[in-house]
Order: sequence, then C-alpha cells, then structure tokens
Amino acid sequence: MVSNITVEKPHTAEELAATLRDAAAAGKAITPVGGRMASGIGGVLERCDIELHTGRLDRVLEYSPADMVVSVEAGITREEVADALKRNQQFLPFEAVPIEGHTIGGLLATGLTGPLRLRYGSPRDFLIGIRVALPDGSLASAGGRVVKNVSGYDMMKLHYGAMGTLGVIVAASFKVFPFPLGQMMVGSSGSWDDATRALALPLPPVSLELFSDGRVQAHFFGSPDAVEAMGRELGWRSISAAESIEHRMAAPQRWARITVPRSRLRDVLEGLPETTSWWASPGVGIADWSFDDADAVIAARKTAEAAGGSLVLMAAPDDVKKKVGAWGTPPPTLDVMRRLKDAFDPHHVLNPGRFVV
Ligand SMILES: Cc1cc2nc3c(=O)[nH]c(=O)nc-3n(C[C@H](O)[C@H](O)[C@H](O)COP(=O)(O)OP(=O)(O)OC[C@H]3O[C@@H](n4cnc5c(N)ncnc54)[C@H](O)[C@@H]3O)c2cc1C
Repeated sequence: MVSNITVEKPHTAEELAATLRDAAAAGKAITPVGGRMASGIGGVLERCDIELHTGRLDRVLEYSPADMVVSVEAGITREEVADALKRNQQFLPFEAVPIEGHTIGGLLATGLTGPLRLRYGSPRDFLIGIRVALPDGSLASAGGRVVKNVSGYDMMKLHYGAMGTLGVIVAASFKVFPFPLGQMMVGSSGSWDDATRALALPLPPVSLELFSDGRVQAHFFGSPDAVEAMGRELGWRSISAAESIEHRMAAPQRWARITVPRSRLRDVLEGLPETTSWWASPGVGIADWSFDDADAVIAARKTAEAAGGSLVLMAAPDDVKKKVGAWGTPPPTLDVMRRLKDAFDPHHVLNPGRFVV
C-alpha cells in the first residue's frame, strides 16, 4: 500500500461528498474510516491515497421517542446513540461491546451482528433509512424516517455489509426498541443439550452463547416474574454483565466468522481443531473462531461451505489473507455484484481490494 496517505475529516455530509467527488475525479483510492475497530475485516487493500474519516459527523439528527425512530450521522459512536436513547428507556440492539468507538457507519458497512441477533435480527432489520455519499459527489437517500416507507427497490440494503465499496454512509435512521422491564443473565458449564433446552423455553433468551470450553450463557428480557421463572427453570447461576461480555474484549489476531444453517453448526464446530477456541450463537448459526493457521481455515471453510454456509476472515495477517482469501467461494450473484460496483463506483476508487468485487 502507498504510504503517503492524506487524512480528510469533513464536518458535514456535503463536505464529505465534495471530498469524495474530487478524490474520485483525480483517480485517488479512498478508504472510509469510522472507529477503525474493524479495519482488519475483508481483503487486503490494494491501495489507499485518502482516508475519509466520519468522526466529525457525530450528531443525532432527529429522535422521536413516541414514534420510536432515531436518525443519526454515521460517525456517531454506538455508545453516544445509546446515551441519547436511554433517557427514554429505549435502545438499539447493537451489542454492549466493552470497547468504545465503534461508529454506526462502520457497523452498517461491515454488517456484523452479535448474539442479540437471536431476538432482534440484524441491524438490516431495524435500519429504516440511509443517506450515502457517492463517488460522483451526489448524496443519495433511501428509505426514510418512518417505519413503513419502502416501495420499489430497497436501495439502502445494498450499502449494508458492502464494506464501504459502493459509497460512504453519512447518516442512517433506525426503528428503536423499549428496554425490557426485567432482565436476567445466567450461565452454566454445560453443553449443547443445555443450549438446546434454553432455546426451547416458553420465554426464549434474547441471546444465547455457547463456548468451546463448554460454558453456556443466556440473557433473558421480559417481565421480572417471567425472567425469574426462566432462570429458576434452568437452574443456572446468575452472571454479571461484565462476565457476559468478557470474551468480546478480546480482539484475536486471527479470527474468523463461521455462518451456517443452525442445524449444521454443531457438526461444523466439532470438526475444528481441539487446540483452538470458539464461541457461538447456536440459535442463529454463527460462531467466532480464533484459528491458528491457514490450512485449518481452508479445511473449516470447506466444511462450512459444504454445510451451506461461509467462513469469513475477521482479522488475519496479510499473508494468511492472501493465501486463503478473506471471503471464500464467490457467490452465484457475483456478476450482479460486479455490475452494481461498476454503476456506483465506476473507477473502483472506494476501498479497492477489500470486498469481493
Ligand atoms: C473485539 C471486537 C468485538 C466485536 N464484537 C461485536 C459484537 O459483539 N457485535 C457486533 O455487532 N459487532 C461486533 N464487532 C464488530 C464491530 O462492532 C463493527 O464491525 C465495528 O463497529 C465497525 O465500526 P468502526 O467504526 O470501527 O469501523 P471501521 O473499522 O472504521 O471500518 C470498518 C469497515 O467499514 C468501512 N466504513 C467505515 N465507516 C464507513 C461509512 N460511514 N461508510 C462506508 N463504509 C464505512 C471501512 O472502510 C472499513 O472497511 C466487534 C469488533 C471487535 C474489534
């Protein structure tokens, strides 16, 4: 990568779009930067001339607690949004990751989800509007600020998970959720059977994680009576919020995400080398795996893909990424993805090399 990188920190969406237009017209390669927490995800950047930081786009644009919708700029952090919402006992179900600084734009661009996906789906499901700066300098909007607003093509979903290769997200609107009246976190040193039992409860957990060392953790939301009843039925010990997120403090140097149909997750994880560790959301079919070498990744990816899923590198040294590739076997939609890339970013200046196309 070229070492002479210019850093731009625009104050407004319009300024960001103009910077993007000028850079694209000059054929410069541009990398959008949020909190830089997830810059290891994806392929090795082929080049980067300009880093376009979103950190100064950090305002809550509009918040209507009664309508349960919020619009924010993309550079605002997850914890700043959480602070704004909690005064009204509302929240966005992004995980409580104990490391501050992840931006809303970065979360949407990476499309990553955590264990709360079991109850709330992915942010894709509660994202209701988006505003994106495109390399031609225009600002495109899709969706809106009300919950029922989509007709025709749902263009905003294109930018979700596109790793900043189709445009730079400058703002987004979300449906928000009420805090539960009661919640409880419990854990056991159990097994897959314990996880299955918890998932089958009349009030299922909002998140359930199983670890390679056999631990299981479940988090319940509901009325105080109901969550206590679930805790009693399981008979597991109470765990603290700190204990429940301890594993998410670690950012392993070599880390992959395995996504398969739920029914196949156990087989895939049981095939991983015993010397490595993982944690999984069995109710969702996703596991994070701290792997050791490239050959193990190749073998695990083969199993995951044969099970109808995928294995994506979240963090890995460049030589490992180059050897095994970040994304795996290209999907059958590759040709459509190429055409979309050509339409949105004809000169391929946005994050070249990071995504599949
Ligand atoms: C230790 C650790 C634990 C984590 N645990 C969880 C978890 O439990 N649940 C969960 O959901 N996520 C989790 N994540 C993922 C993480 O929260 C998100 O992917 C992260 O918030 C990305 O935000 P960022 O601002 O740091 O992005 P950056 O690292 O700055 O950017 C990531 C990518 O997105 C692009 N990008 C950034 N901003 C924009 C923008 N505005 N428009 C277009 N493209 C953009 C960048 O070019 C880059 O390719 C975890 C990450 C780490 C490191």
